[in-house]
Amino acid sequence: MGRNNKPKGFSRGDDEEPMDIAKLRDGIKKTVFKNGIEFSLQTTSGKTVDGAKTWICPGCNISFGPGISHVVVWESALGVGKRRHFHNVCWQKFQGRLF
Ligand SMILES: [Zn+2]
Repeated sequence: MGRNNKPKGFSRGDDEEPMDIAKLRDGIKKTVFKNGIEFSLQTTSGKTVDGAKTWICPGCNISFGPGISHVVVWESALGVGKRRHFHNVCWQKFQGRLF
């Protein structure tokens, strides 16, 4: 008699992300609410961004570039095309609208 104790029903498929955010997929995506507005939030190390791109953090108005761990945020209703890049701590403190 053989034993069959293999765990089953545990698939680790990683391909359930239909969004067009391929450049950002080294992070974790989640939905958060601030002031009754639904935001989508994506963490990123910034490493997957090509070129010498920089962003201006809406929280502190200081620019930063690739390689800085930060969050990408957009209002879920507006879509990922309206995203902004925040320092992690600035997003925590941020209140209001992105645009
Ligand atoms: Zn900032």
